Amino acid sequence: MNKSQQIQPPFQNKYNLRSVSSQDSKSCLICYKPTTEVLITDNHLDFFYICKSHLYDESFAKPIESKEYEELKNEITKLEIQLKEVGKKVEETKPYLWGINWSKDKKKKEEDKDKDKEDDKSKNNNHESYKSKLKEIENNLTTKNEELKNFKFKSYNLSSTIYKNRLMLNQKKKYNKERIEKIQKDGFFPTVPTHEISK
Ligand SMILES: [Zn+2]
Repeated sequence: MNKSQQIQPPFQNKYNLRSVSSQDSKSCLICYKPTTEVLITDNHLDFFYICKSHLYDESFAKPIESKEYEELKNEITKLEIQLKEVGKKVEETKPYLWGINWSKDKKKKEEDKDKDKEDDKSKNNNHESYKSKLKEIENNLTTKNEELKNFKFKSYNLSSTIYKNRLMLNQKKKYNKERIEKIQKDGFFPTVPTHEISK
């Protein structure tokens, strides 16, 4: 079969998520519970109601990752790198690594000891600023991870089995519709059998 002979499916495997108002809720495709979420194809030829919870089930559908989602993931990666770097700085500037010079070396001149104390003071300032920087990154990372967890995807790919089922169902509906139209056009109605069926 060459390309031109291939039949195009009536709709692609790309479903957009829409919400309807609660009074318009209908039963879910999978569990039949009422839901307000609808998955609908770009050309609106196929749609069905679905609970949000099933959208997390990868055997049912996978979210199509958007540019916004990619950006969010990149931001998180950057923050994780920063967290490591600043965390290292916090360790490097920890108080137990300084103060040794002036507190233990009794032979040192007073002015040198003062200088050491001054050095330690500035080290302390660095340590504190790295610590607050670390806290800031941690908070930022928590927020971004939360955003990622609750990210609202706009469209989904159905698993191939589900998609095939949707295509088959569509084909069946189309066939039934054409059949009914043909019956109505031809004025053909099957008669109800009047005789008893012998056993
Ligand atoms: Zn459901």
